[in-house]
Amino acid sequence: MTESTSAPTYFIRTFGCQMNEHDSERMAGMLEAEGYERVDSAEAATVVVFNTCCIRENADNRLYGNLGHIKPLRDADPDKRIVVGGCLAQKDKDLIQRRAPYVDVVLGTHNLASLPRLLAESKKGPSFEILEQTEVFPSALPSRRESWWHAWVSISIGCNNSCTFCIVPAVRGVEVSRRMGDIIDEVQRLVSEGVVEVTLLGQNVNSYGRDLDGTPMFSRLLWALDEVPGLERVRFTSPHPKDFKQDTVDAMAGAGVVCEHIHLPVQSGSSDVLKRMKRAYTRDKYLQKIAMIRTAIPDVAITTDIIVGFPGETEKDFQETLDLVEYVGYDAAYTFQYSPRPMTEAADLPDQLPKEVVQERFERLVELQDRISIERNLGMEGKTFSVIVEGVSRKDAGRLTGRTRTNKLIHFPDDGATPGSFRKVRVLSAHRNHLDGELMDGGVDRAHRSPMGLPLLASSGPGCSC
Ligand code: SF4
Repeated sequence: MTESTSAPTYFIRTFGCQMNEHDSERMAGMLEAEGYERVDSAEAATVVVFNTCCIRENADNRLYGNLGHIKPLRDADPDKRIVVGGCLAQKDKDLIQRRAPYVDVVLGTHNLASLPRLLAESKKGPSFEILEQTEVFPSALPSRRESWWHAWVSISIGCNNSCTFCIVPAVRGVEVSRRMGDIIDEVQRLVSEGVVEVTLLGQNVNSYGRDLDGTPMFSRLLWALDEVPGLERVRFTSPHPKDFKQDTVDAMAGAGVVCEHIHLPVQSGSSDVLKRMKRAYTRDKYLQKIAMIRTAIPDVAITTDIIVGFPGETEKDFQETLDLVEYVGYDAAYTFQYSPRPMTEAADLPDQLPKEVVQERFERLVELQDRISIERNLGMEGKTFSVIVEGVSRKDAGRLTGRTRTNKLIHFPDDGATPGSFRKVRVLSAHRNHLDGELMDGGVDRAHRSPMGLPLLASSGPGCSC
C-alpha cells in the first residue's frame, strides 16, 4: 500500500513541439525541487500547468476548453493553482486574464525560471509576468525527464528568420545561443546519469553560435559531441535549408554519434510560394542540399514539413510540391493545411484559398506520401539494424518497440530488454509508419555507433559490427 503524503502535487499538460516538451520537463524539475510530487490527472493536482502552443489553428480553443473544465475544481479548492505558460501565454497574457480570471499564474517563454516565485506570489492574488528577453537559459534549470535514457538539450532559443506563416519569432524572440561548453557539460552529466541519446533543440540549429562567434558553430558542436564517452546517438531538430551547409553534412557523415536522419522542412516545392513564405531558398537550392546529403550519407532517412494551401498557391505550384515529394522520396512528411495565424505576415496576404481546395490538395499529398513512406520502408526488409529499446509495444504486450538510427519505429519480440538498451533487429515486414522485425544473434547489440557515418548493421550478412 502506498503511504499517503501531504506533499503538494502537480500535473502538466503540454501542447505543441519538442521545445515545449523540453520546457515542461524543466517546469517539472523546478516543482519537484520545491517538494511537489507528480500526479496523473489535473483533478488530483494542487498545481495544474498548461504549457501552451500557438502555432496551429484552434490552440486557443483547446486551452480555454481545458481551463473551463478545470474551473469548477479551482472554485471548490482555494489551494489549487492554475498556471498557463508557453507561447500562447506569451502572446495572449491580457486575453487569458480577461477570459479566464480564475487563472492564478501566467508566465511566458522567457521566464520559466520564475515559476516557483510566481506560484508563491499567487497566494496573494493572480500573478502574471511576461518578459521580452530570456532571463535564464531553460537548460540551466533543474529537469524531470520523461525518459532516463533520452534527453532534450536546448542549444539555442528564438529565431532571426521571418517566415511569413510563422509566429515563433514573435513569441520566442531573437536567436540566443547557449555557450558550447555549457552544452557539452550538460551532455556529459546526462551521460553520467545513463542517457545514451540526446536530441539537440533549436528553431534553426544550423545558425547555432552565430551570435556567439560571428559564424555558425553547429558542425563544431556535433564534432565535439562525438568525443563524449558513452554518448551513443545525437539527433537534432530543426535545421533550416538556407543555413544547412557542407560542414554540417561532413559532421553528420563523419561523427559516428550523429544519426543518419535529417528533418529538413521544405514547406513547398514551388519557388514562387517559397518566396512569398520568405524562406530564403528556391526549389533548386533545396534540391541541391538534398543531393549534398545523399552523396555523403547514402542511407540517410529524410523527413520534412509541408504546408498545403499557402495564400496564392496555384494548382501548378501544388504540382511542383507533389513532383518534389516524389523526386526526394521522403521517409515521412508532416503535412499541414495552411490557416492564417494572428500576428503573421501571411495572414494579410491576398488570395487566401477556400478550405475545400486546401483539403483536396492535402488529401492528394497525403496519399502520395503514404505510398512513398511504404516504399522506403519496404527497402529495409531483410536488413539488420541497431535499435534502442523504447519500451513495451502499446499494441502488443508481447513485443517491444524501438527505434533505428534512421528514426524508424520497429516492433520485435520481447526478450526482457529494458528501455535504453540496444538490440540487433532484422526487418521482416514494412508498413507505412512502422516495421516488424526479429532479434538477431541473441539480440544484444554491443556496437552502437555508426562507423564513418554508415548505418550500423545495414546488411544482415557476415561482417556486421558486433
Ligand atoms: S525558421 Fe521560419 S518557420 Fe522556423 S521558427 Fe524561424 S520563422 Fe518560424
